[in-house]
Amino acid sequence: MSDVDVVVVGAGAAGLGAAKALIAAGRSVRVVEAMNRIGGRAWTTSTDFGVPFDIGCAWLHAADRNPFYPEAQAAGWTLFHHDMGLDHLYFRDRRAEPHELAAIAAADAELQRLIEAHDGTNDRLSSLLAQGHALRAAATFSGPMDFGQDDDEISVADFRAAADLDPNYFTREGFGALVALFGANVPVDLDTPVQEIDWSGPGVRVETARGTLRAQAVIVTVSTGVLAFEDIRFRPHLPEAHVEAIFDLPMGLLTKIPVEIRGERLGLAPFDDLLIERHARHDVFFLCFPFDTDLMVGFVGGDFAWEIEAAGEEAAVDFVTDRLADIFGSGLRAKVGRSLMTNWGGERLTRGAYAAARPGKAAARATLAQPVGDRIWFAGEALGGSLVQTAGGARLSGEAAARAVLAQLG
Ligand SMILES: Cc1cc2nc3c(=O)[nH]c(=O)nc-3n(C[C@H](O)[C@H](O)[C@H](O)COP(=O)(O)OP(=O)(O)OC[C@H]3O[C@@H](n4cnc5c(N)ncnc54)[C@H](O)[C@@H]3O)c2cc1C
Repeated sequence: MSDVDVVVVGAGAAGLGAAKALIAAGRSVRVVEAMNRIGGRAWTTSTDFGVPFDIGCAWLHAADRNPFYPEAQAAGWTLFHHDMGLDHLYFRDRRAEPHELAAIAAADAELQRLIEAHDGTNDRLSSLLAQGHALRAAATFSGPMDFGQDDDEISVADFRAAADLDPNYFTREGFGALVALFGANVPVDLDTPVQEIDWSGPGVRVETARGTLRAQAVIVTVSTGVLAFEDIRFRPHLPEAHVEAIFDLPMGLLTKIPVEIRGERLGLAPFDDLLIERHARHDVFFLCFPFDTDLMVGFVGGDFAWEIEAAGEEAAVDFVTDRLADIFGSGLRAKVGRSLMTNWGGERLTRGAYAAARPGKAAARATLAQPVGDRIWFAGEALGGSLVQTAGGARLSGEAAARAVLAQLG
């Protein structure tokens, strides 16, 4: 006897997408979510700065194939086309010369060519980077700021499989708010962490902090970080290939450190991109004054993001303020208002920003996508196909898992 046809674990973009597809097909579904809200890594707050701010995903990537894009249009969201560029590049506190910008543009094209031509012999992205400012700075957007990993931890094959994410759109109302709108009519049991999934008998028994649910199948959308920490026990254990795949898809990290700059635009225009290149290790990127708000949104990624989150918010805000003061003068300090640091590395329910395959392990994603015992399916950003790591990819993965479950249930 099952309580429902399908239990969906997690109410982020993947879980909500899966649940909506199952409900539309007439199946009974229970969505269980450990947080006290839906959206997971899609989360807009308006209390921090008095304007919507995305703590998690912000850009609608690959808008021409991202299912959230037409919904944002239909919902009347204010959309701004913004593909990442290098409007302002500094090598520490020195502004890049025009010939250096040209060299970086050429290096970026060269890096893309090397990635495309890569024969797989050394699968580390770092193996493609010659020493020198240009290629390394070009790699900043491919590595820490994009994949959330340093270039020596990125698989070229995995990176290559992720689509070019242009065109990108930024929203005034918030991507997290859009995902919340998408999921608003999905019944979700909040504050209900899943502790164990027992698949020893027919169907599954999903043990939660609020009781047990029996179902024919379960779709698990928690991050690979949560899976690797075994915050959910599987009884019996998952097959070894799945366990390996989970460990071969560790979480990368991207940390946002937005600071308000009051009454000053520093000669920058809304949505300008500013990158401070610091040996391609401790680089910091700023999205400047989006929608003409007072925010300069700092980003750090990869190993440095884990370090800065461990150091804490005060240290992180000091770091970005110091870097801006290096460039714009110490008078800037008096203009800094509210600030924050996102902390997805310390968030137990995500344990990082998004997954990236270890070098040599790009096949892990396909392994994890295989159902277990025809009753456990995994879904989420790690299985987002060419849109891996993105909220749109997470949703598509959830919808694909739902289709597979429907086919199985018949
Ligand atoms: C800082 C940052 C910036 C980003 N920027 C972008 C961007 O600009 N554009 C973009 O498209 N993507 C971006 N992303 C990635 C995007 O946010 C994620 O890929 C996407 O939201 C993941 O959705 P998901 O459903 O796979 O996972 P999640 O959103 O993590 O959903 C999984 C859910 O499972 C829940 N859960 C965990 N453990 C349990 C448990 N034991 N029981 C029950 N529930 C549990 C979690 O609370 C969570 O709600 C960013 C992410 C971060 C962190």
